[in-house]
Amino acid sequence: MVEVIHAAFGARPPLDPPSTADSETPESVAAALATGTGVYATVGDRPAGAIIIEPGDDRVATLRRVSVHPDFQRHGIASTMVEECKLLAAELGCIRVELLARKEFPELITYWRHRGFTVVREVPHGVVLGRPLPRRVLVPTTDDMHALGARIADRLQAGDVIIATGDLGAGKTTLTQGIGRGLGAAGQIISPTFVLSRIHQSSTGRPDLVHVDAYRLSSAAELDDLDLLESLEGSVTVVEWGEGIAESLNPERLEIMVLRSADPTDDTRTVLLAGVGDRWTEAELDQLVHPGASESLDQEAVSRA
Ligand code: ADP
Ligand code: MG
Repeated sequence: MVEVIHAAFGARPPLDPPSTADSETPESVAAALATGTGVYATVGDRPAGAIIIEPGDDRVATLRRVSVHPDFQRHGIASTMVEECKLLAAELGCIRVELLARKEFPELITYWRHRGFTVVREVPHGVVLGRPLPRRVLVPTTDDMHALGARIADRLQAGDVIIATGDLGAGKTTLTQGIGRGLGAAGQIISPTFVLSRIHQSSTGRPDLVHVDAYRLSSAAELDDLDLLESLEGSVTVVEWGEGIAESLNPERLEIMVLRSADPTDDTRTVLLAGVGDRWTEAELDQLVHPGASESLDQEAVSRA
C-alpha cells in the first residue's frame, strides 16, 4: 500500500502546500488500518491501488490516500475500489463517506461528483466531498430476516419498488416473505421458479405484493413482457435479481443487498439498504434500521460495529 501511495502521489504535479502522502510509512499505514480499514488492489501481483478508510465518531468514514499506480490508471481500478470502500464503510456502521479533494484538481472533483458525491464544505486548499452510504443491518437468523421484512413493509406505500440483490440462498425470498407478512399478503411466498411474477393480494387493506424473480431475464425488454407497469401503481413490487434490469420500473426505489458471512458456519446476513430518489430520505432509511421496535437487531449491530 505504501508503495502505491508513494507512486500515485509522486506522479502528481507539485502542490503548495505539498501533500503529506510521501511521509506515509509502513508503520503509519499499519496504524491507520488498525483503527480503520482499507482496500488494496493488485494487477497480477503488482501493487495497483490503495485507499485508507478512517471511521469517525460521527459515523462518517473518511477516505484517505486514494491512490492508483500511474501504470494502471484508467483501468477502472479507482471506481472498483470506491464501490468496495462504500460496502466496507457501511459494514463499519458508517452512514456517510467523505474525502478531501485539492482545489488544484478540478477533474478529480468532477470524478467524485459522477460517483454521487457532492461538495459538503470548503476547507483550506480544497473541498470536502461526501455522499450517503447504504444502511447496514445484521440479521442473525431466518426469523430476524422475516422481522426485518415486516418492518420494511410497515413503511411501504403503493407504487414502491424494491430491488433485491444477493447470491442464491442469500435470503432475498426470505426477506420478501417478511415483507409479504407485513402487507398481509395472501398465499405462500416462494421462489417463483417457473412463474416469473406472482401477485399476492393483501388481506388487510395494505397494497398487494407483486413478487418477481428476474433471474432468468437478461434485459429490461424481457421484464417489459411481464406487464408489471399495470400493477405497479397499486402494489408494492419486489424484484429479486433485478439489478441492471428493473431500475426502469421506478426512478425512486429501495435497493436491498443481502450478503452472506465469509464464515460458512455463520448464518448471519448483512443487509444493506439504499434509497434511490427522493422517496427514500435519510430519515426514512433510519426508520427502517432503528424503528425502536427491533432492539435485538440493533444491539447486534452495535455490538459488532
Ligand atoms: P434467495 O432468495 O436469496 O436465493 P432464500 O431466501 O430463498 O435465498 O434462501 C435463504 C435460505 O437461508 C433460507 O433457507 C433461510 O431459511 C436460510 N437462512 C439462514 N439464516 C438466514 C438469515 N440470517 N437470513 C436469511 N435467511 C437465512
Ligand atoms: Mg429467491
